[in-house]
Amino acid sequence: MQFLLEVVEILTNYVRKTFDRSTKVLDFHHPHQLLEGMEGFNLELSDQPESLEQILVDCRDTLKYGVRTGHPRFFNQLSTGLDIVGLVGEWLTSTANTNMFTYEIAPVFVLMEQLTLKKMREIVGWPEGEGDGIFSPGGAISNMYSVMIARYKYFPEVKTKGMAAAPRLVLFTSEHSHYSIKKASAALGFGTENLILLKTDERGRVIPADLEAKVIEGYVPMFVNATAGTTVYGAFDPINEIADICEKYNMWLHVDGAWGGGLLMSRKHRHKLNGVERANSVTWNPHKMMGVPLQCSAILVRERGLLQGCNSMCAGYLFQQDKQYDVAYDTGDKAIQCGRHVDIFKFWLMWKAKVGILRRFLSALITNVVPIFSYQPQHTNVCFWYLPPSLRGLPDGEERRERLHKVAPKIKAMMMESGTTMVGYQPQGEKVNFFRMVISNPAATRSDIDFLIEEIERFGNDL
Ligand SMILES: *Cc1c(COP(=O)(O)O)cnc(C)c1O
Repeated sequence: MQFLLEVVEILTNYVRKTFDRSTKVLDFHHPHQLLEGMEGFNLELSDQPESLEQILVDCRDTLKYGVRTGHPRFFNQLSTGLDIVGLVGEWLTSTANTNMFTYEIAPVFVLMEQLTLKKMREIVGWPEGEGDGIFSPGGAISNMYSVMIARYKYFPEVKTKGMAAAPRLVLFTSEHSHYSIKKASAALGFGTENLILLKTDERGRVIPADLEAKVIEGYVPMFVNATAGTTVYGAFDPINEIADICEKYNMWLHVDGAWGGGLLMSRKHRHKLNGVERANSVTWNPHKMMGVPLQCSAILVRERGLLQGCNSMCAGYLFQQDKQYDVAYDTGDKAIQCGRHVDIFKFWLMWKAKVGILRRFLSALITNVVPIFSYQPQHTNVCFWYLPPSLRGLPDGEERRERLHKVAPKIKAMMMESGTTMVGYQPQGEKVNFFRMVISNPAATRSDIDFLIEEIERFGNDL
């Protein structure tokens, strides 16, 4: 018990320091340095048990050499922030240490999941009482569910006979969509060549006419993914126009709202997802925009029965049909997993604690980002280049492109070494490496964004 109290102290100290701006975001070491062992902290597993004192040191140092993703100056990922209610939810979940597959061993959590999914479907705008869903291990898996369920809807015999039972099927998604759609086409046996990429406009949104032009003879167009909040630009595809084309050609419409789905909670910003109620399935990651601790992602399906039909294997040792309670609550056979982590409780608890606050926060967050930059981002992604003074006189040609491409990785490396802040970078299409700052951390203020820009200037000034 004493040990537990000491661990709690380590954790609460960590939490306190995470919000303290004089604490660094990270204490970076290269892999070989960590593997060689730090003072008093050795990653190697030994043959002898260690003392509880050492175990406490190990706990403390594990946090010390990690990255404070909840720090107000961490802008590196779409999932940031350290929400205290959410954290408590995760602790309680681990304490309960149970499994979502049956009502039998997770009665409260299973009901919370059902009620939360129902609420989410209502927010999407589907008629009351319709639909289904499940929490999955992340948006990539939720997107994979959508492709599986679509295939089951149109070609249920694939479940037993395999892809040979279906004609050549193609999927469509934006060139800016998340790579998990491509991964799903590979993993599910469609093949990446049967995923057709759609052109986007200058703000990264799908051009619907390109979809219509690509729905041609020779294959069966089956599935369209529209992204609500692309990962890099934060673009929102025009769902209504895409839905019209899906209806015309009888294609499944999935909305990947892993990043932007949180805006459905905002009266002011939900119009960016107009038409989402016409989707057949929706991915929504509360662990991104809504700040729920990792991980927490839902796949919502409009038609009831498909998840079960597609995935059920009726394992007799778990899902006995003669249990003396309503076995419809044994949701485990809808999943592609067997055991399933309890991702619902922290979200349910946060929802209870702050639904109104969350709404206001999302609105404030998005409104505040806009005036800093010269264009109007659609979401809280802000993509930009930093042009060091030495490149400013150069004409916009090949030489400048080549040199500019190297700027972001160099600044990022210096930033990691110094540990003061973190932001991501990437190339995209023709565009050389640029920074992508994302804001989803309620602890970040305007001054933290200014700080990031000042740090970029400090590191990049002499490049
Ligand atoms: C992050 C993201 C995903 C993947 O979600 P994970 O939870 O990381 O698996 C899918 N789609 C979009 C648009 C995303 O931004």
